[in-house]
Amino acid sequence: MRPFTKTIPFADALAMVMRTAKPVARQERVPIAEAGGRVAAADVRAAADVPPFARAAMDGYAVIAADTTGASSDSPRTLVCVGRVFAGQNATGSIGPGCCIEIATGAPMPPGADAVLIVEETSRDGDTIVVRGAVAAGQNIGRQGTDIAAGATVVRRDDVLTPGRIGALAAAGLTHVDVFARPSVAVVSTGDELVAPGRPLAAGQIYEVNRYTIAAVVTRHGATARALASSADDLDRLGASLDAVLTDDVIVFSGGSSVGDRDLVRTLLDERGTMLFHGIAVRPGKPTAFATVNGTPVFGMPGNPTSCLSNAYMLLVPFVRALAHLPPWRPTQVTLPLARRIASVADRHQFYTVKIENGRAQPAFKGSGDITSMADADGYIEIPIGTDALEEGTSVVVTCFE
Ligand code: AMP
Ligand code: MG
Repeated sequence: MRPFTKTIPFADALAMVMRTAKPVARQERVPIAEAGGRVAAADVRAAADVPPFARAAMDGYAVIAADTTGASSDSPRTLVCVGRVFAGQNATGSIGPGCCIEIATGAPMPPGADAVLIVEETSRDGDTIVVRGAVAAGQNIGRQGTDIAAGATVVRRDDVLTPGRIGALAAAGLTHVDVFARPSVAVVSTGDELVAPGRPLAAGQIYEVNRYTIAAVVTRHGATARALASSADDLDRLGASLDAVLTDDVIVFSGGSSVGDRDLVRTLLDERGTMLFHGIAVRPGKPTAFATVNGTPVFGMPGNPTSCLSNAYMLLVPFVRALAHLPPWRPTQVTLPLARRIASVADRHQFYTVKIENGRAQPAFKGSGDITSMADADGYIEIPIGTDALEEGTSVVVTCFE
């Protein structure tokens, strides 16, 4: 055993991790139908006006506004309807004074007309339109280029492609968009006892959890996960796994990061890279290491599933979001009374999982080794260093996992 000589505060660990984060420069071109949630790699300008022509914004009659001046229910005017135009058609006829054209929303304005009189303010007798309201010039028209002018920037570099921005790209007629490549996260679970789900368990074996939880977290935050088969607790095998993933943007080892004799990830990172820290004053997740190997950042996460996932949320999420050019994650937070007393460890910052039940925060943490500490929780509360208990009814801020 090689006990921790010292741990660093969580804020220092996070700061060190973030200083290492280099946003990926690789780009790819994707169809706009697949671009939701991606990050634009360059400014995109519109080649043409949107809409490309002046169009009716309402159903009614294209008119010369001056012909309707003073019209009301008490003092109606009449116009002669000389045609009609639907969306998708070309406006064939033009109108002169005293005339109008029936027009549908989205149809091009006929030459000569300068407003649309809504159908609700008219009545009709054959080709005679009785006008019961006045319109001003320009009213109920979507003028050419008012949504997006030719040459205007539709999305900017580093913009997250929200549904609205995807729509703007489509409106501008674009089929594809250049986005930043997703950072690739290599996940290497370590442990002689680990077996992939779906296989029978021999004595002493368990199903591996962390490769799936880490993959789920990082894919939710803009990265891709590449999971290797789990590695045995053997320095040569761990070294071979490391060699196989050095081209990824970030490497996450799970297990073997603590101080036991078979905890060899720490030894591997000491031998092969530069250890930036080992041991964080948090619970769960204390035996977490962070190093660089040939410039590639490597996390050594603890094997206990809740410790591993907790630190994946706390450290890996901000890190991969920065690599992916995504803005910092702003999880939902709700302030609720604590449903029962929690005893805490005073020497570590604690991320304590809770379930939201009947408007109260119900403690959900069982143990670091129990994945249900996470699975049965909606979020977590933070208990700072120096606090050894929170009493029932204390107002706590719950940070939600999703
Ligand atoms: P370690 O960090 O390797 O000392 O492992 C701590 C505990 O977590 C042990 O009980 C391991 O069996 C368990 N463990 C390690 N890796 C995993 C994993 N990928 N999935 C589930 N449990 C794990
Ligand atoms: Mg182990």
